[in-house]
Amino acid sequence: MLSSEIFNEILMTAGIGIDMGGTRIKIGLVREGKIMASTLIQASAHVNLDERLNEIGNAVDELLTTQKYDPKGIGLAFPGIVDPNGRKILSKYVKYPDAQRVDLMAWAEKRWGVPLVLENDARAALVGEWQYGAGQGCDNLVLITLGTGVGTAALIQGKLLHGKHYFAGSLGGHMSINLHGEICNCGHLGCVESEASTWALERIVKHSSDYHASALAKEAEINFNVVFKHAREKDQLAMTIQQHALKAWSLAIINLILAYDPDRVVIGGGIMKSKDLVIPYVKEMISRDTWINDHTVDLVAAEQVEYAGILGMCYLVDVLKEPLAIL
Ligand SMILES: [Zn+2]
Repeated sequence: MLSSEIFNEILMTAGIGIDMGGTRIKIGLVREGKIMASTLIQASAHVNLDERLNEIGNAVDELLTTQKYDPKGIGLAFPGIVDPNGRKILSKYVKYPDAQRVDLMAWAEKRWGVPLVLENDARAALVGEWQYGAGQGCDNLVLITLGTGVGTAALIQGKLLHGKHYFAGSLGGHMSINLHGEICNCGHLGCVESEASTWALERIVKHSSDYHASALAKEAEINFNVVFKHAREKDQLAMTIQQHALKAWSLAIINLILAYDPDRVVIGGGIMKSKDLVIPYVKEMISRDTWINDHTVDLVAAEQVEYAGILGMCYLVDVLKEPLAIL
């Protein structure tokens, strides 16, 4: 074999980030903080994770083959409570019913012979924003994502916050903000999610006494963009719901600031398409209604809207052998 042929067979390595969402799984190849290629597959979260891993593995292989990279390691972001040391999924997630029993490390080792790093999806997104997005240069950082659910994560003095049972900082969507609120899907009362998230919105709208008099009754699909649009057109119910949601998100962010004392809060999620509505409202509420000084905390929109989780996981693959050894 000619030396040039040998040289050609030495492939460059890339981290593989897998971000498991509720409806879609994003997969990306990352090298030096850049997405080299990515793909999407359906989550099909009603089936067992063990069955999904084969299709995820095939999608990863296709990316590696077409892009000509060798895998350096797998970084998997999971929407639930995980033990990043033991690489175990801990939460009894209603989706992927077998998730707690799946040996992810053995899967990565057997399929590619590489290590696997596991984190909660909001923590992965926080790391992505910290290293490559709106959190750069800031070692005391809180992330909140406003979307189908409300995800949160905290980084304190450059260390990801995990806690004794690995849920510290990550269940901010289930902080209670309304003593008189509805029971949330977690069983708790008046959570941020049950007061103001996309999954709860349709119930909130349709259970309102003035629903039938509202323009929202004529909408086929209810989401926050639709509510904000009708609020701009002075629909009474849309204005009430917009106000309630802005207040709920502000209370959530204030609670996170009081708990974790960050320099900066990065706000992400689909609802931040309306960041010009959300950020000024939260800022005003913080300066008007709390002891937190206006200049103490920056509030900024997320910058890595699509790939924060994948970039964050590949950063963890790059720097960590044991996830908690450094962070
Ligand atoms: Zn809850």
